[in-house]
Amino acid sequence: MVEKKVAVGACTGYGHYLGSVARRAEYHVVDELRKDKSVLLCPPALAAGVEEDVRFIKEHPVVSIEGCAAQCQRKIVELAGGHVDAVVIVEEIAKRNNIIIDKNKREVDKKLAYLVGEEASKIVDKIYNGYKEVLPSYGIPRCQVCVQGDVCVVPCTGMGKALGGAARLGGFKAEERGCVATYVCLPSLAAKSGKYEDAVKNMPSITIDGCVEKCASKIVQSSGGKIKNRIFVPKLLKDKGLKPPENRMELGEEGEAVGKGIADEIEKFVAKMKVEESK
Ligand code: SF4
Repeated sequence: MVEKKVAVGACTGYGHYLGSVARRAEYHVVDELRKDKSVLLCPPALAAGVEEDVRFIKEHPVVSIEGCAAQCQRKIVELAGGHVDAVVIVEEIAKRNNIIIDKNKREVDKKLAYLVGEEASKIVDKIYNGYKEVLPSYGIPRCQVCVQGDVCVVPCTGMGKALGGAARLGGFKAEERGCVATYVCLPSLAAKSGKYEDAVKNMPSITIDGCVEKCASKIVQSSGGKIKNRIFVPKLLKDKGLKPPENRMELGEEGEAVGKGIADEIEKFVAKMKVEESK
């Protein structure tokens, strides 16, 4: 019988809608369904060496919620010297429940996220009773790099704080406005799953950090990238007089406003960097 809580992480992938579902499913487990039995693991924080997350993977059993078979969160845990006890893959649960994945969709399928959260919660219970899973083989990443423009935009996608979610939302909003750049999936970069390493090595980056840990900036630097401009979300809130989002699962109206503010900054920096490049 496991007495310690189970650390539950999600890939929080930026480049595919599956990562958004995984992210929401993790919140269902740690904030609602198994609040007393689990702790939240944040893959960008773990990859950036944040002490609390590194300790979690050493001291607790780990359940990993992954968008797809690439299993970026599991890779990040393993690269940090830990071990994953069980994996839940969003794509497989969607298939099992006849839910069609629309790869162009940004809005999270809440029903699917809840189903994934329920599945992960059942596994948390099993781990309490000594369950160990034979882990699946690694597959092809669904978050594929789309290299465009001359700049990388790297949102932190952090899980622990609502401003990590706002950083992610800011990136989506800038993309929707047609701001041309390579939007980097930080978990894929940290897990070395895709081709994001080449993108950050070859182009200057704008990093968007949700808190003082500055995980996006740390991971870009440790991947050999060069940061040209940084958006530090807590400072942006102060400068623009914005309120923080309601909570980490539902960013609400405040989160929307913060997302817009971040997108404005991204557009400004991308335009500025283009002018500098052309000189
Ligand atoms: S490629 Fe990695 S980050 Fe993207 S959905 Fe798959 S597991 Fe998640």
